[in-house]
Amino acid sequence: MGRRKETITYPSGTFSTSVHEGSANGSGLEFASSLDGQESNVVEHYRPRVSYYMREQAGNFHYGKQHPMKPHRLTLTNHLVLNYGLHKYMDVYEPRRATEEEIREFHAEDYIDFLKRVTPDNQETMQTCFSEFNIGDDCPIFDGMWDFCKIYSGASIEAARKLISGSADIAVNWMGGLHHAKKYEPSGFCYVNDIVLAILQLLRYYPRVLYVDIDIHHGDGVQEAFYTTDRVMTCSFHKYNGEFFPGTGAIDEMGSGLGKFFAVNVPLQDGIDDRSYTHLFKTVMSAVMETFKPGAIVLQCGADSLGLDRLGVFNLSIAAHGECVRFMRRFGVPMMVIGGGGYTIRNVARCWTNETGIVCGTDLPAELPNTVYREFFGPDYSLHPQLSGRVINHNSRAYLNALTARILEQLRYLKGAPSVQMQEAPPDIQGFLEDEERNEKDLMDDQDRDTKEDRLGRREHVAEFYESDHDQDEDDIDGSTSVGV
Ligand SMILES: [Zn+2]
Repeated sequence: MGRRKETITYPSGTFSTSVHEGSANGSGLEFASSLDGQESNVVEHYRPRVSYYMREQAGNFHYGKQHPMKPHRLTLTNHLVLNYGLHKYMDVYEPRRATEEEIREFHAEDYIDFLKRVTPDNQETMQTCFSEFNIGDDCPIFDGMWDFCKIYSGASIEAARKLISGSADIAVNWMGGLHHAKKYEPSGFCYVNDIVLAILQLLRYYPRVLYVDIDIHHGDGVQEAFYTTDRVMTCSFHKYNGEFFPGTGAIDEMGSGLGKFFAVNVPLQDGIDDRSYTHLFKTVMSAVMETFKPGAIVLQCGADSLGLDRLGVFNLSIAAHGECVRFMRRFGVPMMVIGGGGYTIRNVARCWTNETGIVCGTDLPAELPNTVYREFFGPDYSLHPQLSGRVINHNSRAYLNALTARILEQLRYLKGAPSVQMQEAPPDIQGFLEDEERNEKDLMDDQDRDTKEDRLGRREHVAEFYESDHDQDEDDIDGSTSVGV
């Protein structure tokens, strides 16, 4: 598994020297100061160690000329991230590809076989499989599709393992976040569900994992995979009217069986603005964190919830979207930060760059650094272009208040964290983690060795050793990684 600071080809252009450690105050915008007393569990002076996963090839895949999903947005993001100098604040890795066996932990064998075999050249002969596996315009067969899946999924799996090993507090994979893929079929531009695969890894170690989704579309694939378990809480903020893709995500989808009340859905109408969204997000997430007490968080940062998105209909600014990331970071819980939707690619790159800065605790200047892709970002060349105002806000205060009240009521049913006992990491992952640690040590640059070892020496998962009256021994979990536990 490659690692890489040394093999990254930095884009031409100058690295900004104005990145600095700061108080994570955002970009001069108002949100950081409007937390409304909702952060009682936050860890002050949190200095997380951040891992960042990137693979140059990921940006070169093409879904098709007219298709809105453009992997090139990953290249734009990486160029901005590097030219802002953010690699100085993170361990940067080129992850390995997921193995077939790893993908099989969630996806069905037949479906994997199909993904492996089908190509643009042989798809004519495989038409009969298309209806079986729901292949259509949304999910076309394109060159290198299976390789693309292995790349973005491998990165998410590796990110999850990095958190488990304790050698990162936050792991960022903008290639991942393909939340619609199902066990037997692709959906909504997603073929393999890297999020489910990553959460399955996290469940080997963490008793409870929280999944948060701020993509404009409902995180249906992840919700479905964990609908009947109380070890994963899924919480999705999305547009919902019964018709908007994927059509699910109503407030009364709450989970079932053991998982009853562990799926939280926040259905929104067109045009939601910064202030309403961030207030709602913080109110709901404060209650979720208080109630569920996760050991790890997976935050899907789909950027199609930004204003002016090609497919989206919200009004969010890059600052408000990033404020959700900042808010979750402040709990000090190990966190995976992943991509997702986002179809106005110049803004996707800005958004994910800003959020990379946020997880690093740096305050990025609004003026974009020079890159070879500079022409994408004109005429303003700013990290924070004006994105709001295209769509009228149809979320009335009364609607949002009623929504909040219902969700808080749902969370009250949980009556504290579920009764999942702390457990040892199972033996199969232990050896892997030791290898990871060895590789990690090889990776360290001499220059910052001391600093990192110091951080390694003192670090522990902040939220891992929780104490709660609600942590009980009954209903123990056997560490199984099958979905639906
Ligand atoms: Zn989306």
